[in-house]
Amino acid sequence: MALRLVAFVGIVVGLVTAAGHVLAQQPAPKPGTQNPVEAAQQAAKDAAEFEFLGALARTCLLPPSRSEDFRDIPAPYVSDPGKAPPRASWYADPAKVFDNLYFVGGKIHSAWALKTRDGIILLDTIYPYNSEELIVGGMRKLGLDPKDIKYAVISHAHQDHIGGAEMLQKRYGARVVMSGPDWDLVEKVPNRFKSMAPKRDIVATDGMKLTLGESTVNIWFTPGHTDGTISFTFQVLDRGRPVNVVYSGGTALVYEYHLPEWSIKNLQTYIDSQRHIAAKAKETGATVLISNHSEFDNAYNKNRMLAGRGNGPHPYEIGADWVQRYFKVTENCARATQLKLEQPPARQ
Ligand SMILES: [Zn+2]
Repeated sequence: MALRLVAFVGIVVGLVTAAGHVLAQQPAPKPGTQNPVEAAQQAAKDAAEFEFLGALARTCLLPPSRSEDFRDIPAPYVSDPGKAPPRASWYADPAKVFDNLYFVGGKIHSAWALKTRDGIILLDTIYPYNSEELIVGGMRKLGLDPKDIKYAVISHAHQDHIGGAEMLQKRYGARVVMSGPDWDLVEKVPNRFKSMAPKRDIVATDGMKLTLGESTVNIWFTPGHTDGTISFTFQVLDRGRPVNVVYSGGTALVYEYHLPEWSIKNLQTYIDSQRHIAAKAKETGATVLISNHSEFDNAYNKNRMLAGRGNGPHPYEIGADWVQRYFKVTENCARATQLKLEQPPARQ
């Protein structure tokens, strides 16, 4: 564990150094002024400290997620199940994280089950090739009945989050909730979503409240990662104590170097979304940030820390200030990228 952390920090330091070389090609700032790209990156780094290195690396350093791929062809692992990644690369044990919130995802991608007295709200459904074992199997291991899933809420229509939705809708009659633009995307490229496309059901909108039993999931429209990405705020209980949670629905930046105008606009949409969800997190007093990728909220490691918690603090409860800092990381990395796209290419 310690060795892995050292290796990871080494990679981050290496990437920071690599980014520094790229920046070195840009015109030197006048003495006394700071290059605005560097200033935004520095703001992200200051906000991240050691808590959000994954989000910092993904949004400030790593290559972009590409714009939407409209080729209507099935995923390789759908055409040929033998092409699914090996189980060892994605398997993780399920975990009871709060009194009424359960982790039923994998090592990299997450799914969460919010249990209420009237059934279960499932947040995200991971891939078609692992939703059976991780969601259905994971719930059973934790003493939950997958037949109780009343809603499956999909943060955005990418294969790592919508993968199990068709199966859950068909088999258990779960109502599927997704935003309008992402329902449109699924219908536009049906082969691309082959085996994962639920029939159009509930259309999520900004401010919508999804209530089941004693729990309400508040839905917030946070486009930018896809045109219809949604995020959530809701309350859970920790040993009977109410705790407010914010769930970030889409994180990686989506832009294309050869489409600067579109990319600058899309990044602005993303920045506005980060501010929107940060404001909702603040209003609701969120002290826990969760996500649908472990690289952003460290879910895989935190789940394993739960076992040794004893009477100590909950490993997910980072406090309201740190929750706000998370959205400063993503916002400033998006701004740095936007500034890079706005600059004319550096002369060689
Ligand atoms: Zn995605």
